[in-house]
Order: sequence, then structure tokens, then C-alpha cells
Amino acid sequence: MVEVSTIAIDGPVASGKTAVGQLVAKLLGFRFLDTGIMYRAVTFGVIQRQISLYDDVALTNFSNSIDIRICDSGGNAHVTVDGLDVTDSLRLPDVERGVSLVSKIPGVRATLVTQQRAIAAQGPIVMVGRDIGTVVLHDAQLKIYLNASIATRAERRFLELQGRGTPLEYDQVVKELQRRDKIDSERFDSPLHPDKNALHIDTDILSVEELAMHIRNLTTCQR
Ligand code: C5P
Repeated sequence: MVEVSTIAIDGPVASGKTAVGQLVAKLLGFRFLDTGIMYRAVTFGVIQRQISLYDDVALTNFSNSIDIRICDSGGNAHVTVDGLDVTDSLRLPDVERGVSLVSKIPGVRATLVTQQRAIAAQGPIVMVGRDIGTVVLHDAQLKIYLNASIATRAERRFLELQGRGTPLEYDQVVKELQRRDKIDSERFDSPLHPDKNALHIDTDILSVEELAMHIRNLTTCQR
């Protein structure tokens, strides 16, 4: 019997990781960390300081020099960088465009992975991202890889952007999604791919609630 206290959820853009992971965490009384917001926080800082997205050394030095804090109040994570709340800036179009380029840099990843592991060491957690099962929490007792068809993911993203007041043409949404998936899955360091022990779940049809219940039941089965 395995005691599940660490759940790793990975998947591409708009695969449902955050919504499902948050609900799983709530159902189990675990903490939740969306690691994407850390890469977004670094990217926002980089853009603000006009650091080139192609300057590996400057990006690495910058990520090492800042203090990122995540404060989760009732499921709504607030992110501060050097004491400044950047939560509302993490989904800005410039951040969306730049984040995969910043995330490619090994020095940036090394810094954030160390912080993610330190957060995980504090107790039971559901952590979501691109490399959680493969790298960050390689020893996680339960690893899930979520995916959905490009049409479903693009539709989700399209509606999300509309709801946020930053709409894009549907074709543009598809292109952006494919561009980010390509960079994330082809990068040299920690590319997006399922861990060999990950359970693959297709999120095309099931609702967030159904998926979360399914994952929660997997933890009780293994106890
Ligand atoms: O999940 P989200 O879309 O917010 O992630 C933004 C970007 O951050 C991803 O496209 C990817 O480039 C990067 N990321 C990563 N590793 C993680 C989480 C996110 O490289 N664990």
C-alpha cells in the first residue's frame, strides 16, 4: 500500500491541469501549486526590466536575484516578486508570448525547480506543470498526464481569453497554442512529455469534477 501525499500533474496548454489539480487538492485537503505562475512571474519581471528573452546569462542571473513568493488564499494564488504583487500581470499577452522562451533556459529552470521542491517538502501537495512527474517531483506517488485534442484545448483557451477581455481570433489561438506546445516539448532541458509511470487521462469528454473525483479515488485505492 502506498500513502499518497504528492501528486504530480502535467500536460500541455489548456489540458485542464489547473482546474483539475485545484479541485483534487481541495478534495484531499492538500496544498496546490501551479508552477506555471512562477515561470510567468519571472517572464513578467524580465519584460519589465527589458531584458532580452534570448540572453541566457541575463535571464539566469535575473531569476536568481528575485524573491518570488506565492500566497494561496482560499484557492486564489497571489504571486509577489520582490514584494510587489504581480498576480494581475501574469496573463498579459506579452507574458503569454514570452514565457516559453524564458522557460527554456536551464538556469531559470534550476532556480525555480529548487524552489518548487522546497515548497513540496512542506507537506502533502498537488503540483501541476510540464516537468513535475519527470523532474521536479520524480518520486511522486501518483503521476497524471492530462491531454485533450487540439480543438478542445483551443476552444477552452479561446473562451478563457474572451472572458479575460483579451480575445484573439480562433485561428490565432490555435497557432499560439501550437507554438507554445512545440517550444515546451522540444526544448533541451526538461521537455514536456509524460513520465513513464504517469497515468494518461484524456480531458476531452469528462468534466473537471468527474476528473478530480477519478484522481481522488485513485489515491484512496492505493492507500
Ligand atoms: O501552465 P502555464 O500555461 O501557466 O505555463 C506557462 C509556461 O510556463 C509553459 O508554457 C511553459 O513554458 C512553462 N512551464 C514550464 N514548466 C512548468 C510549468 C510551466 O516550463 N513546470
